[in-house]
Amino acid sequence: MSLSLTGIHHVTAVTGQAAANVEFYTRVLGLRLVKKTVNQDDVAAYHLFYGDEVGSPGTELTFFDWAYAGPNRPGAGEVASTGLRVSGREALDWWQRRLEAEGVAHEGISMQGKRATLGFTDSEGQRLRLVEDADGPVNTPWSHSPVPPEMAIRGLGPVVLSVRSLEPTARVLTEVLSYRRSDEYLLQSAQLSTPVHVTVFETGPGGAASEVHVAEVPGAAGARNGIGGVHHVAFRAPDDMQHAQWQQLLSQAGMGVTPVIDRFYFKSIYFREPGGVLFEIATDGPGFATDEDAAHLGEKLALPPFLEPHRLRIEAGLKPLPTQDVLGGHNAGTS
Ligand code: ZN
Repeated sequence: MSLSLTGIHHVTAVTGQAAANVEFYTRVLGLRLVKKTVNQDDVAAYHLFYGDEVGSPGTELTFFDWAYAGPNRPGAGEVASTGLRVSGREALDWWQRRLEAEGVAHEGISMQGKRATLGFTDSEGQRLRLVEDADGPVNTPWSHSPVPPEMAIRGLGPVVLSVRSLEPTARVLTEVLSYRRSDEYLLQSAQLSTPVHVTVFETGPGGAASEVHVAEVPGAAGARNGIGGVHHVAFRAPDDMQHAQWQQLLSQAGMGVTPVIDRFYFKSIYFREPGGVLFEIATDGPGFATDEDAAHLGEKLALPPFLEPHRLRIEAGLKPLPTQDVLGGHNAGTS
């Protein structure tokens, strides 16, 4: 049997304001903070994970808290927008009213290929897009979410990459990573002087939860990652065995892949695709309930065992964050 990725696993972005970030993604977007931990390579920085009730793979939007990073400079070689799937057009209308009521900047509803979408940004300029997706995986909405379950964000997808030249990225997606070319469209936007050509790729069962849209922007300056930008996108490998096979395959393909790194909640490998975007492949398991009771995910600072002996020092270096009891559905005033 040939090796196949099964979709998008998570997207990791950069914030400079962890407290405001928790407030926006939990209270306004209704995602659950499933894990509050630190960047394993930089323990002075939070690593915040938002997702569904249990942080299912495919729902996790995560943030490094890098207060001293500069602002993200958009351009070629980055994830230019992150899709968040909802049930359909009715949900998009509901979200448009919600974003307006919250004073969130949005672009109104427009088409992204064959799907209706609603583009918006968080207060740091993070580019997000609610996408109609009646058929994709639904996952389990956060039971204390201020967003009603029928309107809830169902998971990630698609991600839009911007690259100067389509073909090198397309070749890695199709010849190395098991992706299939499935569609193409012209992206028109008030911010673009000319429409941009976008090619759609899907993997595994296909659909928005798996899709990578590659926007070709030949003359664009290079992106510089920072606050309000995406750091990397991760794809799903169902188990450790297939994950190890991906590491071998990418290594043989000369992709400059890292060894397997145990991130405790999942295992990871990283490499940069030729267009400049940092890719990761992560295992579906073991997941976020591995060190916390599922009912109390994200309430206290979680540390992997190798950092636990340093807890006091690490906690002393972190800023306090709002708690979900204040932000979530326990507070009946938020709707
Ligand atoms: Zn990651």
